[in-house]
Amino acid sequence: MTLDLDKLVRPEIAALEPYRSARGEAPDPSGFLLLDANENPYPDRLQGKGDALNRYPEPQPRRLKARLARFYGLAEEGLLITRGSDEGIDLLLRAFCRPGEDAVITCPPTFGIYAVAAQIQGAALVEVPLDQDCQLDIAAITAAAEKTSTKLIFICSPNNPTGNDMEHTGILRLAADLPQTLIIVDEAYIEFSGSPSLAARIAGQPNLVVLRTLSKAFGLAGVRCGSVLAGPEIIAILRRVLAPYPVPTPVADAACEAVGPAGLARMAYEVEQLSAARDQMIGALGGVADVQKIFPSSANFLLVRFADSDAVCQRLKARGILVRDLSAKLPGCLRLSLGTAQENELLLQALGIDSAPAVCSRRAKRTRTTNETSIFAAVDLDRPAAAVVDTGIAFFDHMLEQLGKHGGFALTLKAEGDLQVDPHHTIEDCAILLGETLREALGSKAGIARYGFTVAMDEARAQAIIDLSGRAYCRFEGQFDGPSVGGMPTELVPHVFRSLADSLGAAIHIRLDGDNDHHKVEASFKALGRALRMAIRRDGGEIPSTKGQL
Ligand code: PMP
Repeated sequence: MTLDLDKLVRPEIAALEPYRSARGEAPDPSGFLLLDANENPYPDRLQGKGDALNRYPEPQPRRLKARLARFYGLAEEGLLITRGSDEGIDLLLRAFCRPGEDAVITCPPTFGIYAVAAQIQGAALVEVPLDQDCQLDIAAITAAAEKTSTKLIFICSPNNPTGNDMEHTGILRLAADLPQTLIIVDEAYIEFSGSPSLAARIAGQPNLVVLRTLSKAFGLAGVRCGSVLAGPEIIAILRRVLAPYPVPTPVADAACEAVGPAGLARMAYEVEQLSAARDQMIGALGGVADVQKIFPSSANFLLVRFADSDAVCQRLKARGILVRDLSAKLPGCLRLSLGTAQENELLLQALGIDSAPAVCSRRAKRTRTTNETSIFAAVDLDRPAAAVVDTGIAFFDHMLEQLGKHGGFALTLKAEGDLQVDPHHTIEDCAILLGETLREALGSKAGIARYGFTVAMDEARAQAIIDLSGRAYCRFEGQFDGPSVGGMPTELVPHVFRSLADSLGAAIHIRLDGDNDHHKVEASFKALGRALRMAIRRDGGEIPSTKGQL
């Protein structure tokens, strides 16, 4: 048997003549005089950087939809943008469940909105608890679904609040065995998990629906942007129930940036940090006497059972820390969201772990998006690590790797620029952003050595002197024989140092000579890295200036 959507959808929704807004499905309205939607013709009063706010937004903003579809790996017809996953859950209930007749299955302990949305719609709620390993009880779910008019089964993977991934084999078996039921897999936390998304299986399994959101890994809970991924027919049904303009213009702008090249790089970087924090927290919590169990987690939170969770909750609250108390349904259990390194440290201290006070880390991450480039950069000045650099210009990547390596700091930089024009914008903007990021990481500059000096010699000789003075100045003395090295115009070499000096607020002096351009360029980046290493090194706690500020 295959999915028969005519039988699955509520008859009232199938019969509905959907509301058509003025420009709902119209082709791109740009280039038209817009006298069709009773808008105020005067441009918006809020000075936003995106589209004008006096106009209604596109019901499903095209640029955002294209980017989301690419990121989620399916065709645009299989994606619906919603106000968070919460709205996707509500739409599914309203489109498919007849009040008083149909049922939904949930598998507690799980995300509470499924049950609430079912009750609001007047659908019966059938609960099939997870087994002892927090996995789905596939046989029990199938039996329950066959007993009732079950339209929807909600599965959360990684599951909130237990944190574990659900096994895909079981989910796919369920979808195959119950072809007239929608199997909805909520992947709100999937970016934190190593598991692939089930979105890739939708094409072969038409009753599979996947929910995604920008609220978690992308750090945009305040933007309210989620997606329903499903076969195009299911998406078309949900659109009948969806409000006419569900994606406000500023939301579309922010979301579009988040799933652009720099945004994706930033997301991956933060996921890596939070995943490392998760491992550290698991290790540290293992040393808390009161902790009875830490549930395995593939998400950005940990479910922890304490001997006396009430006392822990009160103690944390007294220290100004809120965690989610789940003890009413899961005795002794608290859900701890992962915070920044400092926040996690404070949590551990409040739990009585005598950890060394967090050394204020000198990290920064920034994005820069213009019409020409989209770049993400992150540095950790106190952690030497192999640089992760991808600008699309292999030789420039190699130079930035030298800077990170010899600078002794962790550098992540991902850029997508208009290389079809030439490398100029990309190289320049990377240098600007890198300088800004280094400057932010240096903070007040208290404790830094400030000056650096080195001579790197080969047949080529490069001397780099730096002063992290807060005042930008660049001197470059050197000549190149050829116009480019490895696709990087040599005229951009001094330009990089100047851009870096400007945005970092530093005096950078480079002097170089030699025979081979490749050696000369490379030596100058290495020398600058070495100079930076000396200048950013912590050397006491004072601000190295009689002015008291830099
Ligand atoms: N699904 C799960 C499993 C969640 O935990 C949450 C929020 N806590 C949501 C969906 C809601 O996400 P959104 O912010 O996209 O509505």
